[in-house]
Amino acid sequence: MEFKTKYNNGDELYIICKHMTYKAEICKTCDNDPLGVKIRGVNFECPACGGYSSQIEDTVKWEIHKLRSGKVERINIESYTKVFGQHKPLKITYMLSIIGMRNELFWDEDVLFWSFDDAIAECNARNIL
Ligand SMILES: [Zn+2]
Repeated sequence: MEFKTKYNNGDELYIICKHMTYKAEICKTCDNDPLGVKIRGVNFECPACGGYSSQIEDTVKWEIHKLRSGKVERINIESYTKVFGQHKPLKITYMLSIIGMRNELFWDEDVLFWSFDDAIAECNARNIL
């Protein structure tokens, strides 16, 4: 079966990706006290967080991956037959080779752009949301 892809091998593209920073969530039971909770003068490990306060998303910022373009090196096409009565859409992802970088990730079409300017414009649009 033949599939038409938006990009082809050798196309030079920019990738945009999300960068996240995290902050520690304050545990409502122990206030992140490393000694845990005190019951009748004895310290116990916090039963809510177990001493590991969880991390929550703080800020999300879209930016151009490494600020450089890369060439499409591999295209991965996942095509499914009907699974449990549902038809999963065709999934096309791309691996790019970027000079000086080892990169083995496959990227979705919606994060790939022909030009630096288009990629920056999309980052700015997504950062406003
Ligand atoms: Zn806790």
